Amino acid sequence: MTSLPLVFDAPKRGLPPQHLADLDPAARREAVVALGEKGFRAEQLARHYFAGHGSEQMTDLSPVLRERLAPLLPELWTRVRDVDCDAGATIKSLWRGHDSTLVESVTMRYKERTTVCISSQAGCGMACPFCATGQGGLTRNLSTAEIVDQVVRANADDLARGFRGVSNVVFMGMGEPLANYNRVVAALRRLVEPAPAGLGMSQRNIVLSTVGLVPAIRKLTAEGLQVTLALSLHAPDDELRNTLVPVNTRWPVKEVLEAAFGYVRTTGRRLSIEYALIKGVNDQPWRADLLAKRLKGKLVHVNLIPLNPTPGSDWDASPKPVEEEFVRRLREGGVNATVRDTRGREIAGACGQLAALE
Ligand code: SF4
Repeated sequence: MTSLPLVFDAPKRGLPPQHLADLDPAARREAVVALGEKGFRAEQLARHYFAGHGSEQMTDLSPVLRERLAPLLPELWTRVRDVDCDAGATIKSLWRGHDSTLVESVTMRYKERTTVCISSQAGCGMACPFCATGQGGLTRNLSTAEIVDQVVRANADDLARGFRGVSNVVFMGMGEPLANYNRVVAALRRLVEPAPAGLGMSQRNIVLSTVGLVPAIRKLTAEGLQVTLALSLHAPDDELRNTLVPVNTRWPVKEVLEAAFGYVRTTGRRLSIEYALIKGVNDQPWRADLLAKRLKGKLVHVNLIPLNPTPGSDWDASPKPVEEEFVRRLREGGVNATVRDTRGREIAGACGQLAALE
């Protein structure tokens, strides 16, 4: 396999404290034993953690025991602030890590589900020019526990507000998930493993988004997971995609689509194509036709996203009639396509925009 030129390991500085959610169940038992307690306590502690319980709710553990096991549950994120809109149905949270790293998560409550959009890296090294996170570069990879903890905190918040808790997770916040491969895959396993090993979520309710790191997509295909893959394509031709998604110069459109459809063949899961419609840049009718040609007959759905302009950017969302024509042409070409509801635009809801304001 081609070796990736991208960051796969956390930089030496700033590693977060190790947390129970970094460990698989066997390693958790060992860690508990190393703290002088019986191995089965690891399962009790994990059950409480994934349920979002605070220390005072761990009533089956004595205060002495809770204190002894406390090093396994360090506080990973301090809430900096929550901003909400859509009458409280969308809540964007800004978190500060142990090394002052800032990341964001967004909770979106719909009638039948609650979705949390989480970050996999602090910043991002992919340099997509239309994206706020891409402007600042990569600060560091998040640990497995830092990724999982965003879901655990969102779930606990949702339950505390009297709702049903998080049912869906999308890896569409800050960062390129497949550039932090090992930790993201470990986090996926924690999310889907049943309690007490993990959160017990349905794989069908998890979406992993990527700009198209081909070797990593192939590796993911062999993991035996069944999460939905979302490919941020944004252009059907290499000439434009090379500028919108610079990693395309390494793995061009044809190659990335082949890898993504390899994932679809193995998992049986429908591919999502993410396409931010940018006025006068990638919204021409001929590009809709070319996109349809490349996707026709495949198990795929195109999500068109009205661009949420970053502050100071010249780029804007496509006008409604242009957007409608793009959708019409895709459908006429035999491809399912819808325009995504863009929750949270008025609270700087696109990835990286809240952190960029700090
Ligand atoms: S769009 Fe995604 S991959 Fe591109 S710079 Fe932004 S966060 Fe990174």
